[in-house]
Amino acid sequence: MSYRMGLDIGGTNIRIAISEARGEARQYRKLPRERVLTGEDSMQRLAGFLKEYMQEYKDGQLPEAVVIGFPATVDAARRVILQAPNIPGLDGLPVVEELEALLGIPVYIEKDVNLLFYSDMEDLGLPPEGIGIGIYVGTGIGNAIFYNGMPLPGKHGVSGELGHIPRADSKRRCGCGNLGCSECYGSGRRLAEIQKEQFPDTPIQELFTRHAAEPVLKEFIEEIACTAAAEINILDPEYIVLGGGVLNMQDFPLEELKKAIYQHARKPYPAEGLCFYHSKDAEENGVRGALALGWRKAEE
Ligand SMILES: [Zn+2]
Repeated sequence: MSYRMGLDIGGTNIRIAISEARGEARQYRKLPRERVLTGEDSMQRLAGFLKEYMQEYKDGQLPEAVVIGFPATVDAARRVILQAPNIPGLDGLPVVEELEALLGIPVYIEKDVNLLFYSDMEDLGLPPEGIGIGIYVGTGIGNAIFYNGMPLPGKHGVSGELGHIPRADSKRRCGCGNLGCSECYGSGRRLAEIQKEQFPDTPIQELFTRHAAEPVLKEFIEEIACTAAAEINILDPEYIVLGGGVLNMQDFPLEELKKAIYQHARKPYPAEGLCFYHSKDAEENGVRGALALGWRKAEE
């Protein structure tokens, strides 16, 4: 039976599954990323891991296609990793060319956040027509911008860097190296700073349960809202998917965030037509998005 293979490569873990029919994911496995990708001979090692997995679960039968998500910027043609800050040895690698030569099957790569959006589109039954955006507030701010069911690639493949909207006169240094990016004000990294500085006795996962009314956390919500509203005012999307680890924290004030986004959205539109969806955090979402893209590729 023909099948697709999906991988979600993260800084910490690799997740993999296969699918013999649209919408299903089976033989799910999760393993430490360092067991496969160590920074040396990355593509040989990845191909070796995939062959072992095929041997174990499909008696060596090759899939019709492999789709791999990376926590990285990827070139516009989706063939080369530009920069993967959390995984050594991938920067500048022509992943598709090398893996296709090693495996002998079609390989597709995508930014991990776009695979989350493919997964959400399937889960939530979202229509492909028009502009759809996903805003995933995790450690940083992940952003997917889709037009007619496809991610907007941009000239270099890096459109949708919503976490790096600059502000004037900021002294805060972003992980990207620039000063004053939106991520420095409304992201999981910022929330960890707030916890350390202001609520050292509260475990971070209880911050909203115990302190949601404190001004510093109100401000934090306002920061996320302003970032989201900036994109919404530019794109006037059909719908907005809100998700990520921070928004899925216990007692996170999601309604308050939506209200704040509305306040900063241009009136009457796009403000009056905002259509929000909520992405539930599940660790298999990236793999499921990879498999969904694998099935789409078969139809192209
Ligand atoms: Zn930045």
